[in-house]
Amino acid sequence: MRNKLLVILTLVVAIVVVSWVVISNSNNVSEDLAREFDIAPAIEGQPHLGDPEAPVTVIEFGDYKCPSCKSWDETVFPQLKEEYIDSGVVKFVHINTPFHGEESLLAAQASESVWHNSPDAFWEFHKEIYQNQPETQQHDELWVTEERLLEIASVVESTIDLERLEEDIQSSAFNEEVATDINLIDEYEVAQTPTIMVNNYQMNNPFDYISLVELVETENNQ
Ligand code: CA
Repeated sequence: MRNKLLVILTLVVAIVVVSWVVISNSNNVSEDLAREFDIAPAIEGQPHLGDPEAPVTVIEFGDYKCPSCKSWDETVFPQLKEEYIDSGVVKFVHINTPFHGEESLLAAQASESVWHNSPDAFWEFHKEIYQNQPETQQHDELWVTEERLLEIASVVESTIDLERLEEDIQSSAFNEEVATDINLIDEYEVAQTPTIMVNNYQMNNPFDYISLVELVETENNQ
């Protein structure tokens, strides 16, 4: 009888220990990889790419004036798109992070206008702005102007209503949307661009694709 009780007790303890290990492991994202926030950013109304119902959301806090963002867009993003966005695992979101003054704000206004008026053209326009960064002195050189943005919009294959875009830029029609983005930057203490978040995790090194994959896979298996 005593032995039986001992066996049962041992089994119960083993089950509790195993369950605890499984539960704690399932949520275990190393601090070396990312900073954890209580909740993921609110992304309603933000430009997004991929399956809207995808289980994982990856957010790029990006600035069109930022050379590192261009570099991220050309190196990390295509891999993420091919492996996880196109396959329906990840929904990708862009949040304007205008850290480089008036030009960043101007590009942010233009991108909001394109997303709201010609969403099919958004990701092409987004890529094209990055590609228009001058080769040198991107931070200091003045290059984002209304004319340049309209020129960029006119070469995008999908149709963008250029008159509407011009009006929106001139009247800062999307101030509220840009302000929403700036609030998110504050809320999530975004200090550099690009900053990449995977659900409620903010990556320490946005260029580390292996870590990005690890985070996406962990979140996908929740
Ligand atoms: Ca936005």
